[in-house]
Amino acid sequence: KETVLTGIQTSGTPHLGNYVGAIRPAIDASRRTDVRSFYFLADYHSIINSHDPAKLRQSSMEVAATWLATGLDTNNATFYRQSDIPEIPELTWILTCMTAKGLMNRAHSYKAKVQVNEENNAKDPDKGITMGLFSYPILMAADILMFKAHKIPVGKDQIQHIEMARDIAARFNHHYGEHFVLPEALTDDSVAVLSGLDGRKMSKSYNNTIPLFLPEKKLRKLIMKIKTNSLEPGEPKDTNGCTLFEIFRAFATADEVADLKKRYEAGIAWGEMKQFLFEYLNETLSPFRATYDELMADPATIEAELIKGRDRAREVSVPFLDELRKAVGFTPLG
Ligand code: ATP
Ligand code: MG
Repeated sequence: KETVLTGIQTSGTPHLGNYVGAIRPAIDASRRTDVRSFYFLADYHSIINSHDPAKLRQSSMEVAATWLATGLDTNNATFYRQSDIPEIPELTWILTCMTAKGLMNRAHSYKAKVQVNEENNAKDPDKGITMGLFSYPILMAADILMFKAHKIPVGKDQIQHIEMARDIAARFNHHYGEHFVLPEALTDDSVAVLSGLDGRKMSKSYNNTIPLFLPEKKLRKLIMKIKTNSLEPGEPKDTNGCTLFEIFRAFATADEVADLKKRYEAGIAWGEMKQFLFEYLNETLSPFRATYDELMADPATIEAELIKGRDRAREVSVPFLDELRKAVGFTPLG
């Protein structure tokens, strides 16, 4: 069976971009019985950038409640917390020892930080960079290879990391025999990358997000804050590069999008557009929001789902790690 796998970091509150880019497409796949699917809270990843236990816990609740409220089929898909699978860090170490340092030197996420340091003329180009950030593509490779995932749905920024996972797997297979499936990135150009309040990519770590399940009043307030240009009511507006339009398009039908385009050409006022977007999103999200609020008030139900997923994930990871340990030479002596 084809296997897909997706994780979301427990680094903050899930936002519209996470939903459109990762969760919604995954929910559809979670219901397909011809596909094996794995969804996880990437909490080992989240401690790379944040060391606040209360925040990690809160985010884990929010990310899990979001998956469950938006309709993840946890009887068909395997839904788990990464830190419940101790085989993943063990595999990470084995892979670390098969990974050339030069490969990690080329990782975008690491290079981007070094570049920021150089631009700021920091004495040490590695200032503020932990080994976790440097080697996190290896942790990601372990996430993927552990479950023999073929297709990894990702944004374009993640293609390089999937290629690294492939390289690492190929090197292991070449040396120790064929154990790993070589994964491929699956990018879907029809899936939008949403911009945030400030026009940059909406990201938990940029503090520019519109959380998916805000109470109505707060949702309205944030939508009113989205940056627009200074065109007056009556002046034709461009839909290209307009954050408001982009968000609407990610949720609406083709007919609704065509209608709105006409209103842009006719010079819709930004205030009117914001109110329209708010009403549309509020109506679309409110049924999910009710379930989300119930789950957030019931951590035991969330925990039970994660434990169910852990047990199913470990049915795969425990025997597979055992196979890998043998391949590497960790075998009983007598
Ligand atoms: P962080 O800032 O901690 O990296 P994030 O908001 O970028 O958080 P991730 O956990 O890194 O979220 O990403 C989870 C998934 O959501 C990934 O598949 C990613 O491609 C997708 N995603 C994140 N931001 C957006 C966005 N603005 N538009 C569409 N998809 C997004
Ligand atoms: Mg991210």
